[in-house]
Amino acid sequence: MQQEKTDLKSMDLAELTAYVQEQGEKPFRAKQLYQWMHQKQASSFEEMTNLPRAFLEKLKTGATLVCLRPETVQVSAQDGTRKYLFALPDGNVIESVLMRYRHGSSVCVSSQVGCRMGCRFCASTLDGLVRNLAPSEMLDQVYRIMADIGERISNVVVMGTGEPLDNYDNLLRFLSLLTDENGLHISQRSVTVSTCGIVPRMRALADEGLQITLALSLHASAQEKRRELMPVANRYGMEEIMDACRYYVSRTGRRVTFEYSLVAGVNDTAEDARQLAGLLRGMNCHVNLIPVNPIRERDFRQPGRAAVADFKNQLEKYGINGTIRRELGRDIDGACGQLRRRYLGSGKTEE
Ligand code: SAH
Repeated sequence: MQQEKTDLKSMDLAELTAYVQEQGEKPFRAKQLYQWMHQKQASSFEEMTNLPRAFLEKLKTGATLVCLRPETVQVSAQDGTRKYLFALPDGNVIESVLMRYRHGSSVCVSSQVGCRMGCRFCASTLDGLVRNLAPSEMLDQVYRIMADIGERISNVVVMGTGEPLDNYDNLLRFLSLLTDENGLHISQRSVTVSTCGIVPRMRALADEGLQITLALSLHASAQEKRRELMPVANRYGMEEIMDACRYYVSRTGRRVTFEYSLVAGVNDTAEDARQLAGLLRGMNCHVNLIPVNPIRERDFRQPGRAAVADFKNQLEKYGINGTIRRELGRDIDGACGQLRRRYLGSGKTEE
């Protein structure tokens, strides 16, 4: 069997230094290589002009520089959102999204090809999990988008396809490379990781000593209702989840974000709002209300504008802060996983 090539872009500086020395080169070459990859976001060895030719040739035989290829880019005429379909080195495809806000640009990164969590309203999970993404493949989504728009990115949210805490080790390495002062140096506080609620991993993340924001996809305030929407709730009950969130706040001092997709007739009543407020009372948190993005495979509908605003007002009446997430890119296969499905021909998501 052919030996797998070394994934240079997934290595930290210490590992890269050891690798470079094994190749008979001076340690400072590792730093140069690292800067080309992570500071200058080089997309080929050819660009690395201050490295000796012979060294680059040696690298090419034993190692790879993972670089994603944009397969398609859809640009929203409404709000400038750009949705990328990237081809991975093995031919799989993933989605990433650039969202533009007044305070800067944010990239939404995928963490897996497909997903095995099975949330009922989500298009990314319909065909299950294909594989985890390597740290390099997560990073390069950010790098390629920056190169495409020629601007720096201020925020990164791990909210694309996949469950990041189901790809924990690669996620941690991605976070450390992304925020490294010798690399792109995105501030930890500008990074959000979103989970459907894998409790032991939420607790582990709380213990990592990071300052990133944790977002918990809640979507229902009662265990029974949550179970119907999210199979993961069969493994971890509401109390365990809330305890893990409180633990995250206590360990990191960071406010937790709760994501709540509003589905008409399922979780959008005044009683739902009251229950949600009760669940979150006293916690340092914020609620992100997202009118569900309907997918063709399921009969989930958005509540009307007024019902969404009502829900937010109800929460505020009980002292819970909420924002209604602006729906970006509705005109370009907005919902998670729709673009990839369409590309693969496995689901027509729009009429
Ligand atoms: N697996 C992680 C991150 C990826 S999903 C998680 O569950 O948090 C990112 C967010 O989009 C989650 O809150 C998810 O529940 C939500 N989401 C997925 N499909 C959606 C849809 N069709 N409409 C609204 N929100 C959706």
